[in-house]
Amino acid sequence: MLELRPYQLLCLVCAQGADGAAPEDAGLAQVRDAIRKDPDQPVRLVCNAGDVYAYQDPGPAGDTPEGAEFNRKRDLDILCRLDLAPGNVLPARALLLTLLHAIPTVAGICGYESTTSEAWRGCPRAGSGCYEKGREKGIDALIPPRSPEEMAREKRASMEALRSGKGITIRPHILLCAVCQYGGGVRPPYADDNLPELLEIVLTTHPDLPVTMARGADWAMCAPCPKRVPGLNACVNVLGSGGLSNEKRDLDTLQRLGLRYGSTLKARDLFRLIFERIPTTQPICGRRNAAPSVWWDGCGEENRSEGNRNYEKGRRELMEKLR
Ligand code: SF4
Ligand code: SF4
Repeated sequence: MLELRPYQLLCLVCAQGADGAAPEDAGLAQVRDAIRKDPDQPVRLVCNAGDVYAYQDPGPAGDTPEGAEFNRKRDLDILCRLDLAPGNVLPARALLLTLLHAIPTVAGICGYESTTSEAWRGCPRAGSGCYEKGREKGIDALIPPRSPEEMAREKRASMEALRSGKGITIRPHILLCAVCQYGGGVRPPYADDNLPELLEIVLTTHPDLPVTMARGADWAMCAPCPKRVPGLNACVNVLGSGGLSNEKRDLDTLQRLGLRYGSTLKARDLFRLIFERIPTTQPICGRRNAAPSVWWDGCGEENRSEGNRNYEKGRRELMEKLR
């Protein structure tokens, strides 16, 4: 597993800001290439935290020359902003996205407004603007996105399968997302997933389309999504860990419906069951976690005090049509 000091994550972004130059440290350039090649591999963040976290202290070998106290404080400042503990492991993409979200500037982390002594001079690049420029370039500068050609190919192939009427697989909670989209007026063609097209087919030509519950960012509906990682059948929306919160939503949906992965129902019966048992998205989609957290997402935040109104509208409209 890749082990990194928290400050080294910042240095990866900093190097992007220095006109995409490789990090000065050759080891970090290898880390950057390894993450680019396998963006969702696990990364452990270690630092010299001491105390009850001493079990993971890596020692001073990875320190930069500014001194032990500065190195310790910088790493702890970063972990504190990311709301992570020393030794925590996350997928590299999730870590980098969380970092970009939570740390807009290295001011106060890698360098300070005033130099109180030589030991607190900070990193010479801290005031250069490189980190901030690198952050503006966003995650795509570090991890290339799916290509538009590949996503268009996947859209065509998955739509062909859907139109065949032989049946589809789907991760359970996005049946609810389909209702939210419908209530919000989203209609085909829709590039990022096949949910509006699924509803159109169910409402017109194939009300009895067999629908089977499946795990993960299943191909039939998620194939063209920019946030799908095909090799892992994973969803990396939100801050790279949306798949985690979505898996919980899937299981919450199955529990309410009394279904399991592998259960198959005719589409119209399935939607009727959803409308009967799930009048609001709030208990399934709501999250109390504040960002940054692997459980945070926009829908979770919006569902804190009430369910998604588009769901309620879509539910009413679709109940009429699927009677
Ligand atoms: S509120 Fe829930 S069901 Fe609606 S789009 Fe968001 S995650 Fe999907
Ligand atoms: S990959 Fe994730 S964001 Fe994309 S459609 Fe599937 S569940 Fe939604």
